Amino acid sequence: MKILLATHNKNKIIEIKNAFQELDIEILSLDDFPDLPDVIEDGDTLEHNSLKKAREIYEYSGITTLADDTGLEVEYLNGEPGVYSARWTGEGCSYEDNNRKMLKELNGVEFEKRSAVFRCVITLFGDNLQKSSEGVLKGKIIENFKGQKGFGYDPIFQPKGFSITLAEMSLDDKNKISHRGLAVKAMVEVIKGIK
Ligand code: IMP
Repeated sequence: MKILLATHNKNKIIEIKNAFQELDIEILSLDDFPDLPDVIEDGDTLEHNSLKKAREIYEYSGITTLADDTGLEVEYLNGEPGVYSARWTGEGCSYEDNNRKMLKELNGVEFEKRSAVFRCVITLFGDNLQKSSEGVLKGKIIENFKGQKGFGYDPIFQPKGFSITLAEMSLDDKNKISHRGLAVKAMVEVIKGIK
């Protein structure tokens, strides 16, 4: 079996390759297909976007494709930014722009009310094949940036049960508890069932 990962993100490629090691599957990524067009992530749910990405890349490449979509849902903001997490402060915005906006929106909000959850949906799409898995990570949005590792909202997200942010964890430690790590693990079990 061969699986094409619908991403150029190096961290995601390493993480998924590691998790899939036991499966004896050849793993490719979009770096192996520089001519494939970008998929527009215009759905209003994570499920919709991950399915759209996996299906469109499969249709272009003919290779069974795995795609993920992640959102950060903040309770105080009624679930925002959710599916719009990447471009929350506008097209072309940086991770730092989004984090600064988040700290501003939650300015003065007490710790107990700063709950948030990362949710990741992964879809595997191929010939007569459509399977999804999900992973969630609960935590709190802290009041300042802490840590240099990771990406996205990592410097302001403190996972439940920890006193450090995701940006202060090694990639290995993050993968063990993260939304994407858990969704990938669940997908490994799904694949074992269909192999
Ligand atoms: P994507 O679907 O993985 O591209 O994620 C959409 C957005 O969610 C990213 O642009 C990041 O801002 C955020 N995000 C996704 N995964 C993580 C993570 O593991 N840590 C922090 N932020 C993340």
